[in-house]
Amino acid sequence: MSVVRIEHVYKDYLLGDQKVQALKDITLSFEPGVFLAIAGPSGSGKTTLLNLIGCIDTPTSGKIFINDVDVSGKTPDQLADLRNRTIGFIFQTFNLLPVLSAAENVEYPLLQRRDVSSEERKKRVKYFLDIVGLAKYAEHRPNQLSGGQRQRVAIARALAILPSIVLADEPTANLDHKTGEEILSLMKQINRAFNTTFIFSTHDKRVIAKADRLVRVEDGEVSVLAVRSEEKKWSLARQRHRD
Ligand code: ADP
Ligand code: MG
Repeated sequence: MSVVRIEHVYKDYLLGDQKVQALKDITLSFEPGVFLAIAGPSGSGKTTLLNLIGCIDTPTSGKIFINDVDVSGKTPDQLADLRNRTIGFIFQTFNLLPVLSAAENVEYPLLQRRDVSSEERKKRVKYFLDIVGLAKYAEHRPNQLSGGQRQRVAIARALAILPSIVLADEPTANLDHKTGEEILSLMKQINRAFNTTFIFSTHDKRVIAKADRLVRVEDGEVSVLAVRSEEKKWSLARQRHRD
């Protein structure tokens, strides 16, 4: 089984009457539990790829499977439901609601879930704030927290739905180097402890070094696919040949 499978995916954007080919013939699949970096320069298609995997957007052509379910032909409502149950998001700018406390931010995505009781919600909020080391900050608002602490709240919020995949678009881009490393280490600990799949984009070499799978995109195409062994050596699984 694969947690994500992408088959011959193209994504075009229309900019006025200009067509921008953001992704060209992407075929990839990932097994559950990977800690995967999508690397590439600005404009290469990283955010577009994450948005397709996250069912925020749909491909122009090609198919995407999440947990072996074809999501390509689903309606926006069906996709929203799938997202609420399956996919946790972490953003570069944290995207916390400023008027809510840390605990309320973590609880927020669960409010749309009728199958999660209020008792269960409170339990999860406490549990995940504890996991990210913010038990003491539950009542703090985002503006009373540092950047690293805000990203920890965002991680707890992503985990609260018990997702099978966490997607993070340049999660360390607004953090200093040391804080970024701590955030990555925390994500990796959670990945190892819960076997949650993490897919994150970055153009930071030090962040890439923490991954155990690497997809490099250039001009909307996969240029390198690499796997890291237990001995921390990368081996190429695929490399695009340029003539
Ligand atoms: P990255 O995240 O790697 O910086 P993006 O996925 O954001 O790259 O963008 C890939 C390409 O698609 C770029 O050329 C970008 O300008 C273009 N693009 C992204 N979003 C849109 C959009 N909504 N409308 C038009 N073009 C877009
Ligand atoms: Mg981007």
